[in-house]
Amino acid sequence: MKRLVALLAILFAPAFAGSVPAKVRIVSTLDDFSSIAESIGGDLVEADSLAKGYQDPHFVDAKPSFILKLSRANLLIVAGLELEIGYLPPLIDQSRNAKIHPGNAGYLDVSNGCDILQRPTGQVTRAMGDVHPFGNPHYWLDPNNGRIIARSIAAKLSELDPGNRAVYEKNLAAFEAKLTEKDKEWQAKMAPFAGAKVVTFHNSWPNFVKHFGLDVAGNIEPKPGIPPTPSHTLEIINLITSQKIRAILVEPYFDLKTPKYVAGKTRATVVVFYPSVGGTPEIKDYFSIFDTDIDALVKVLGAGRT
Ligand SMILES: [Zn+2]
Repeated sequence: MKRLVALLAILFAPAFAGSVPAKVRIVSTLDDFSSIAESIGGDLVEADSLAKGYQDPHFVDAKPSFILKLSRANLLIVAGLELEIGYLPPLIDQSRNAKIHPGNAGYLDVSNGCDILQRPTGQVTRAMGDVHPFGNPHYWLDPNNGRIIARSIAAKLSELDPGNRAVYEKNLAAFEAKLTEKDKEWQAKMAPFAGAKVVTFHNSWPNFVKHFGLDVAGNIEPKPGIPPTPSHTLEIINLITSQKIRAILVEPYFDLKTPKYVAGKTRATVVVFYPSVGGTPEIKDYFSIFDTDIDALVKVLGAGRT
């Protein structure tokens, strides 16, 4: 009963409580966009996410609580490129919140303007269950795209809440300045490993490797969203051996069995590599994704070097 009263209080809370203006309520599909939105919105926004950073963003289990969050949102931020196709469209319908429908003012697809890789050139098919039908949807893993996402969010917040435009612009400038500084630091750490080849479990990292000068030689998944097969695993073992690859990067939500088997047959090391805020408790914001992953990668690529 207490919970019901609390719920009703939330649902029917007035838009303005006393003289304190209501915050812009943002729901993002990913914690990464929430983190950036918090940097831009500060105290003026309340940011929440649907998927958690330790979950596979392609396969999110919809919960009833998602509908409540969406029903209250002023702004919905999505990755687009069909990353959320498996769960989000029916939730938007069920939220009965017209503001956040695609095409309306409260819907923001932050892939717009970003450098999207691996866009298909021919006819789009879902052959073999490919979950990247419109290009690679893990594009936030390039800091340059993080900058574009931040600009999109700042512009949208200024549109929805024009009275606070100056605050959003100031916070955007601070975010960009920090990103520029951090990127110098990250680039310096990665510079000694320019051109290094890695194998990754899922095809989450093309933007990351492009930005940091690495190369993904192969994926443990035969196609995005398709589990490992014995024949493909054998090909990956041969690839790692022939190209002397040192690192197998695995997103935190995949079974380590096949990666460890491959590592056991080669000289490569398995590295859990986090694509999102909240993937591990130490990754509390967008910047610490790169802090954590780059430190882990440098350790493996640098091991045994003289
Ligand atoms: Zn994917």
